[in-house]
Amino acid sequence: MTAEEAYTELIRRSKELGVLNSCAAVLAWDQQTYMPRNGAALRGEQMAFLAALSHQKFTDPKVGELLGAVEGSELLRDPESDASANMREMRRAYDRATKIPQSLVEELARVTTQAQHVWEQAKKTNDYASFRPHLEKVLALKRQEADAVGYKEHPYNALLDEYEPGTTVAELKELFSKLTAELSPLVKQIVASSKQPDRSLLAREFPIDRQKVFAEAAAVAIGFDFASGRLDTTAHPFCSGFGPGDCRITTRFNPRFFSEAFFGVLHETGHAMYEQNLPAEHFGTPLGSACSFGIHESQSRLWENQVGRGRPFWDHFFPRLKQTFPSALAEVSLDAFYFAINDVRPSLIRVEADEATYNLHIALRFELELALLSGNLTTAELPGAWNERFEALFGLKVPDDARGCLQDIHWSFGGIGYFPTYTLGNMYAAQFMDSARREIGPDLLADDFRRGEFGRLKSWLLRNIHQHGQRYRAGELCRRATGAPLSPSPLLEYLREKYALVFSVC
Ligand code: ZN
Repeated sequence: MTAEEAYTELIRRSKELGVLNSCAAVLAWDQQTYMPRNGAALRGEQMAFLAALSHQKFTDPKVGELLGAVEGSELLRDPESDASANMREMRRAYDRATKIPQSLVEELARVTTQAQHVWEQAKKTNDYASFRPHLEKVLALKRQEADAVGYKEHPYNALLDEYEPGTTVAELKELFSKLTAELSPLVKQIVASSKQPDRSLLAREFPIDRQKVFAEAAAVAIGFDFASGRLDTTAHPFCSGFGPGDCRITTRFNPRFFSEAFFGVLHETGHAMYEQNLPAEHFGTPLGSACSFGIHESQSRLWENQVGRGRPFWDHFFPRLKQTFPSALAEVSLDAFYFAINDVRPSLIRVEADEATYNLHIALRFELELALLSGNLTTAELPGAWNERFEALFGLKVPDDARGCLQDIHWSFGGIGYFPTYTLGNMYAAQFMDSARREIGPDLLADDFRRGEFGRLKSWLLRNIHQHGQRYRAGELCRRATGAPLSPSPLLEYLREKYALVFSVC
């Protein structure tokens, strides 16, 4: 078999797996949206069957032979060719999947399923002691996983590789320490400011049917294609891109809080537009797949915050919002509304945090999970360490573990290394937006938004981010799109500039 033939066969297999995995994605979406309760057992079997089939096809020793037949061949002479990028990522994924023994995969699935059930209950009853032995097991298995995959310097690097290939603990530590060092005092200044918004205006009566119409109209305006997607309601909002022509998003409506569904929809729309703009001809291969979790998150945060919490956006949408909710917003001015949606205040819960304090929540989790994994922090010490660091960062006392170290699901499902991608997303979003603004022209872009026009920004993102799939790793993609490696500075500058205006701090 020639290298060309081997490569063609690898691509065929990869695309077949893409189709198989998209079937599982449809079932998973249905499970969260419309499946009747009694369908759970059968759905479990269907999902387990597809997952096993996918794993078997993916780790077939034949794939290893095919990869070996292409590597070192003339086909990969140009390191920037389609074939080179596809091969680099297929090799990474194949190695990762085959290095972890099947027994460990099964043990992880068993332990994390149980840990999630226990966590759910432990959070409800504020009972860390019941969750602790499960967390202990999860950590032990994740250490085994890191050993099986192999790593340099820190076992965390092996876990990070699953979400953010190529990024290291050393890089993250540097980014987070710079970010936290400036963000923490900025938040303290904001808290001390005598100018504070009236948040209650967002907690008036906002009928759900009108919220839905308004949010859908905004999603369409920024570029969501409803001929290639849907918006439904779920307890936990998400975006699932099945493949070309079908990407589903969900949200959760709260009739007494406007921000939850609206900014949630902008967020998921950002994820969805990335999925909708990946090159369809490469579906199922790395070139047709999203670059990393951090880059994916950058697309959602960019639309939710950089655009959606910006003044020009609301210059256009606020008059429409007032028409939609005449009684709730009758005497509310654009200034008051803009201030309310840009409120900053230290709070206990990550998922309810504003765009400034959010990153402090992530810094805390990154620091603690790093220490837990390396054994510098025991699970017995976790609640104390959490509360102590939380108070240092936020100036707030944590009243109980339910609102402290038990609040997130991630550790129970073994998602160690996942949290940093949220803040990476915020940093990438700010840096991308900064470049797009400079390239297109800051006034031109703001004028676009004031007219409810987002095409120029969309095509910048398509050109610089979406169309590349996994052609480059996240760090390289950022350098090419912005001319510089990822830095916390654009995010810090953006936040400082915004809050200098709304809170009169500098
Ligand atoms: Zn997201």
